[in-house]
Amino acid sequence: MQVSALEQAAALPLPTADEVANRWDIHPNPNPASPEHREDVFNRLSFGVDFTDHMAHAVYETGKGWHSKTIEPYGPLTLDPASAVLHYGQEIFEGLKAYRHDDGSIWTFRPSYNAHRLNASAHRLAIPELPVEDFLASIVGLVRTDAEWVPSAPGSSLYLRPFTIATEPFLGVRSARRFDYLCIASPSGPYFVNGFQPISIWVSPDYHRAGPGGTGAAKCGGNYASSLVPKLEAHDEGFDEVCFLDAVNNENIDELGGMNVFVVYEDGSVSTPALTGNILEGGTRGAILRLLRDRAVTVREETIRLEDLISDIESGRVAEVFACGTAAVVTPIGRIAGPGFDVRVDGTTVTKSIYDQVTAIQLGHEPDPYHWTYKLSA
Ligand SMILES: *Cc1c(COP(=O)(O)O)cnc(C)c1O
Repeated sequence: MQVSALEQAAALPLPTADEVANRWDIHPNPNPASPEHREDVFNRLSFGVDFTDHMAHAVYETGKGWHSKTIEPYGPLTLDPASAVLHYGQEIFEGLKAYRHDDGSIWTFRPSYNAHRLNASAHRLAIPELPVEDFLASIVGLVRTDAEWVPSAPGSSLYLRPFTIATEPFLGVRSARRFDYLCIASPSGPYFVNGFQPISIWVSPDYHRAGPGGTGAAKCGGNYASSLVPKLEAHDEGFDEVCFLDAVNNENIDELGGMNVFVVYEDGSVSTPALTGNILEGGTRGAILRLLRDRAVTVREETIRLEDLISDIESGRVAEVFACGTAAVVTPIGRIAGPGFDVRVDGTTVTKSIYDQVTAIQLGHEPDPYHWTYKLSA
């Protein structure tokens, strides 16, 4: 069994939240939201619409490194219109969640994975790395300052969005000499509003999200920008999400626009597309692989040909297909279609059991032998 470089880096021990808590200065918001407004937000939780009172913010300048690390009032940025990010898209981001446990304490899931992945993405986009301790301190500082914004309703969480943008005002094409790192936070409701609902996916015949040597393995905004037209096409065809094929042969499953894909076979084995360099290596994907292996399930990271997947679904060899990512954890895929084919899968047993196990670990309802959960605040 292969363990990726990212998984190995993410397994290194982290300092505790108390150890990094004072690394970033705190400038409290003089006009925080009223408790009534927060209650309002909590009563209509969606995703990525409402934001907390603060954000983490640091600046990088060539020669000075990262400085001015602050938890400051949430608010608009002042950017020079020539800022490089606005022209050439030099940007990377992450996504993780803070969860409130039953005893009121606040935890997150595999922050080390996200810290190292941000740096792996940084490397590809010629962006300076942020020390893992600073990434962690930005999250600890922000979540502790905005602790009241972590919801406790079942399935809810505080979604954290760290990102780095090139802010040097310069229209020439080269890596910028100034960057801003920010982390914003958004209270979010359960992903499955109507229970564990299978989604339908449209396999894009014409568009790819990444090609060899491109930025497919980096978490960058540009990958998402190029996925919007195929996503619109999928919506027009009546589907929830788009599935991308590899850009070389146009025959192998890569992933959805923002989620990795798994196939569960009737013999109990499970398969997921191998990390070809075109796929974003999901932390949820890695956690699921580990859980399945520890259940003694035969797991393969391999090429999954669309043609084989379709015929295996038709013959009943495939029992379940699901997608995974931080936002939904796992979501069953109930229908896969594209030009000339339209097949349905109805199994959700393994999918549901993985969902239950991952969320139980995240919420502290089950022991965490993997040390994936990280305590942000008592
Ligand atoms: C973020 C992302 C995923 C899922 O990664 P997780 O770490 O599991 O949230 C999958 N694919 C793409 C393209 C992504 O950007």
